[in-house]
Amino acid sequence: MTTQTVRGRRRATGPASEYPVAEAVMTVRPRDAHRDARRRRSLFSQVTEFAAASGVGQKAGIALAATGLVLTVTVPSTGPMTSTADTGNPAAAAVAAQPEVSAAASAKIDFNRTTVATKGDPDGKLKQLLSAQSAGTITRAASTGSLGAPLEQMVTASPFGFRVSPITGGAGEFHRGQDYAAQCGTSVFAAASGTVTFSGWHPYGGGNRVVIDHGNGLETTYNHLSSSSVQVGQKVSRGDVVALSGTTGASTGCHLHFEVMVNGEVVDPLGWL
Ligand SMILES: [Zn+2]
Repeated sequence: MTTQTVRGRRRATGPASEYPVAEAVMTVRPRDAHRDARRRRSLFSQVTEFAAASGVGQKAGIALAATGLVLTVTVPSTGPMTSTADTGNPAAAAVAAQPEVSAAASAKIDFNRTTVATKGDPDGKLKQLLSAQSAGTITRAASTGSLGAPLEQMVTASPFGFRVSPITGGAGEFHRGQDYAAQCGTSVFAAASGTVTFSGWHPYGGGNRVVIDHGNGLETTYNHLSSSSVQVGQKVSRGDVVALSGTTGASTGCHLHFEVMVNGEVVDPLGWL
């Protein structure tokens, strides 16, 4: 009886208005125009927030524009801090979490990060990023350049992502990190300050491996090492020598396999270097 009454009321208030609303939402969502608009807004706010927070002002906008990530951006060099308002906005958080933002930026960013990251501004940018939010919500536009290079010379031997396996020859292997050419015995540096959470033999191919926890869900790992010079629990600073490169574990030659993990999942290290 009660159910019937409720149903009757619903129909009476207008079945014609309920369904089309749901349908309209469904048809709007997949349209590229809206997605692009959201993405642009998101990128712009990232640039302005980052610029305001880090004090680099227009330089950040210009650097991003140069990568093709943002076409035209005017960044106020002394803008007000708007992070409080933005973190309370669920829509902005949802947009920032969308993976396609980082995908759009891939591959074209090829700055030499060695000098940028290790001189003048050791850990400042990363600390500012992590103090404001969890590593999982940081976009590539903001995170790029926040980690220091793990080697003096960064020569990519094999990139992050799907590749033909150098071990099995099979296609479609997912490469969990970035391989850098390095003679065995080359100094390996901590990419940022943090605490060593692992230093030892990795049973799944990493050989001798060091893991550093940088806080807020951000970790870096260093693999195939010939030796490690740190112990679990040890605090390290950015640029400290934590190991010597090698070819231990599932490795075909001397190199460094470097991983960046966000909340336990590997991400493209180039989004952070
Ligand atoms: Zn590798």
